[in-house]
Amino acid sequence: MTQIPVIQNPEMVNPQDLTAKTNLLGMSKAELSQFFADLGEKPFRATQVMKWIYQFGVTDFYQMTNLSKKLQQTLDEVATVSPPTVKFKQFSEDGTRKWVFEVAGGSLVETVLIPADDNKQFGRKTLCISSQVGCALDCSFCSTGKQGFERDLSPSEIIGQLWVANQSYMENVPVTERENRVTNVVMMGMGEPLLNYEPVVASMSLMLDDFGFGLSKRRVTLSTSGIVPKMYELAKDIDVALAISLHAPNDELRNELVPINKKYPLKELIAAAKSYVYDENPRHKKHVTIEYVMLKDVNDTDEHARQLVNLLKDLPCKINLIPFNPFPHAPYGRSSNNRIHAFSNILNQAGFVCTIRQTRGDDIDAACGQLVGQVTDKTRRAKQWQEKVSKTLQSKASH
Ligand code: SF4
Repeated sequence: MTQIPVIQNPEMVNPQDLTAKTNLLGMSKAELSQFFADLGEKPFRATQVMKWIYQFGVTDFYQMTNLSKKLQQTLDEVATVSPPTVKFKQFSEDGTRKWVFEVAGGSLVETVLIPADDNKQFGRKTLCISSQVGCALDCSFCSTGKQGFERDLSPSEIIGQLWVANQSYMENVPVTERENRVTNVVMMGMGEPLLNYEPVVASMSLMLDDFGFGLSKRRVTLSTSGIVPKMYELAKDIDVALAISLHAPNDELRNELVPINKKYPLKELIAAAKSYVYDENPRHKKHVTIEYVMLKDVNDTDEHARQLVNLLKDLPCKINLIPFNPFPHAPYGRSSNNRIHAFSNILNQAGFVCTIRQTRGDDIDAACGQLVGQVTDKTRRAKQWQEKVSKTLQSKASH
């Protein structure tokens, strides 16, 4: 494990300057075009600058060589490209990378990058992005829920997580040879993305945009616990894959595990999921994955599997079983491997494609469920990180 404490992101400008400058990171193409129009420039400057920011990871306007000297200077005076500050980062031996960001107001959020099993240089790399600081929904198996809700993230704070992850592969690479390495994004970190709707959709639009990160719509997934009205809106607004954090096959149990179920019960949730898949335009056939965390003796019996088969029988979907990662004081345990496989067999025999999520990044506490757990006790964690950082600095200073 390589631990790399970071005190200040070198790309960051002095925070005091931010009040005077416009952050271009996270602006939509339309907003950026308007920004350049206000400067008396042609709208195509927007796409030029977007390519520099999102495809080459450039934040220094003087390196944007197809802009006039005068425009470079103007941008340097009035604008910045400022991702959230990296407070701490850890790179695991299996290729998993984790960042802790400090966002405006001093709150911390985490982002994890998980490579495919082979960890090839250009292989699949999935980034799990946070959409809120904390979460209001209080799912009983989730450590973020225990933390409560602090605030929504802005588009620059959301897209900035992807920007920094890609940037981490660009160090010491000449600008013209840089390329983005993150291949997949899941909006599955801290928070309920559909409760921070506009910034999340704006960020995903930048992920898909050819002048942004240019990701395929099948490789950007939004995960929701079931904010039903927003699922219908999402289907109209953007074409991305959808994951549903289901975790229970009946209302009684789901009310307990995912309390938002009391407001939007399973009947409504499954109807919304079906509507999402069967878009009016058949060319827009969307994909749905069911996420199901395996909690020992709670939701993992054969009977639960059979109820799940019945619940999902008319919904084209694949099912992802997630071995629970206990966090301190968690009221649940992880189902045994045998139990998970028995559960999976019932689903397979009923014709479902069912995968069991592999745990990755154990040496940096980046496994699913631990992601949010790291910042649950924000004050204590922040204090620990600060102590780690200052210890490293002291040891550097003494050498
Ligand atoms: S599982 Fe998701 S929606 Fe539920 S409390 Fe955790 S972060 Fe919020």
